[in-house]
Amino acid sequence: MPQTTASGNGRDTVVVIGAGIVGVCTAWHLLRRGANVTLIDRDEPGLGCSYGNAGALSFGSVAPLAMPGVMRDALSMLLDPAAPLRIPLSYLPQAAPWLWRFVRASRPDTVRRISNVLSTLLAHSIEQHIEMLGEAGAPDIVRRTGQLYLYPDAQWLAKDAMSWALRREHGLRIEQLGRNEILALEPEVGPGYTVGMFTPDQGMSINPYRQVTAMASDFARRGGRIVRDRITAIEVADGGVRAVRGENAVYRCDHAVVCAGAWSGQLLADLGYALWLESQRGYHVMIPSSGVTVARPVIAADRKVFLTPMEDGLRVAGTVEFGGLTRSPSRQRAEYLVRDVARVFPRVQVPADWSFWMGHRPCFPDSLPVLGPSRHHGLWFNFGHGHLGLTMSAPCGDILARTICGEPPNIDLAPLSFSRFEHSH
Ligand SMILES: Cc1cc2nc3c(=O)[nH]c(=O)nc-3n(C[C@H](O)[C@H](O)[C@H](O)COP(=O)(O)OP(=O)(O)OC[C@H]3O[C@@H](n4cnc5c(N)ncnc54)[C@H](O)[C@@H]3O)c2cc1C
Repeated sequence: MPQTTASGNGRDTVVVIGAGIVGVCTAWHLLRRGANVTLIDRDEPGLGCSYGNAGALSFGSVAPLAMPGVMRDALSMLLDPAAPLRIPLSYLPQAAPWLWRFVRASRPDTVRRISNVLSTLLAHSIEQHIEMLGEAGAPDIVRRTGQLYLYPDAQWLAKDAMSWALRREHGLRIEQLGRNEILALEPEVGPGYTVGMFTPDQGMSINPYRQVTAMASDFARRGGRIVRDRITAIEVADGGVRAVRGENAVYRCDHAVVCAGAWSGQLLADLGYALWLESQRGYHVMIPSSGVTVARPVIAADRKVFLTPMEDGLRVAGTVEFGGLTRSPSRQRAEYLVRDVARVFPRVQVPADWSFWMGHRPCFPDSLPVLGPSRHHGLWFNFGHGHLGLTMSAPCGDILARTICGEPPNIDLAPLSFSRFEHSH
């Protein structure tokens, strides 16, 4: 679909809907290219999913979530209430069509194709975050600490063999470690973990929320406008976007960019976009004074839990829970995270009054976001980054800003088009 593009001369008005890390990075890049940008969120920037993620900057995570054998793994997890995946029975009918597409995406040839696309998107993400935060005057937020994945034993590791092979094929540096080498890196790791996979070049954000607010402040400092309003409709005429309607005002624009994370599908339903976007609800527990020293994101791969040393404490993050956008969070999911941290770091001190957070990962069945033009002139999409939205936000914002401003995108956007779902209803 041909698109009009922003002139980049400061006159084209672009409205970005959603001030999570994806919307903020997109708005920032658009502004740097000379567009006149308004960033709108119903809340202050960074209070959606981007608030509480695990902070892992995982440019090597090129393996999609649906890998061959996912059906068997998922079924066994669903029978175990403490497993890192939960689908409430009452939500199963709603989730079933999405899950069917998820399982279909696990075919080996599809996995390879997705992996190639992920690799293109993720390749220079950490450098881009470092550069952007440097320009925003907050270079301390991202660190190249490496990441350490832990397995109970070699049999557990073997289950992830294909994921590691894909990462290697795409150039990630990986060192396999035995128990003593694990302890040399992270002395607090408990005896339940004897095999490690260390990726020395990956990194982390020491505070994902501060990362969003630092970029949003820099956007405002450079002349971008941040508005608090809840968007209720995108107005189109003659096949093109004209304005974005909020509860408080109507925002006329030449371009509108949807970066509303897990809520993007709702926003677009009235325009006839039927997207397979599902929330995979994730949790975190913060432990301000954990009593253990941890140097980098440590991932208990058997439990799919991330333990990240943030600037304000140890963050235990994980769990995939289906249940949509409106059900209350479940404290039990967070209790499992508390058990997990004690298994990985037996000397951890968890305060009795620990509290937890839940966020909505915006997920498509094929683990890829929707990025690029829509069916309407001037309406653009950048959402659905799933488990990798922090990592991907910098490159995806840059790619979309280039495209909107009429520069050739530096990657092929076809595999990321919204239209890939149109024939699967
Ligand atoms: C537990 C957990 C751990 C994670 N760990 C990692 C990790 O280690 N590394 C990684 O890369 N990713 C991780 N992620 C994923 C990552 O956090 C998300 O992919 C990312 O935050 C999505 O960003 P976003 O900007 O698209 O969405 P959000 O941050 O949810 O932003 C969407 C914004 O849109 C606004 N909005 C919605 N509807 C409207 C409307 N109608 N009008 C106005 N505003 C609206 C919302 O208020 C919100 O601010 C994790 C996620 C979770 C839950």
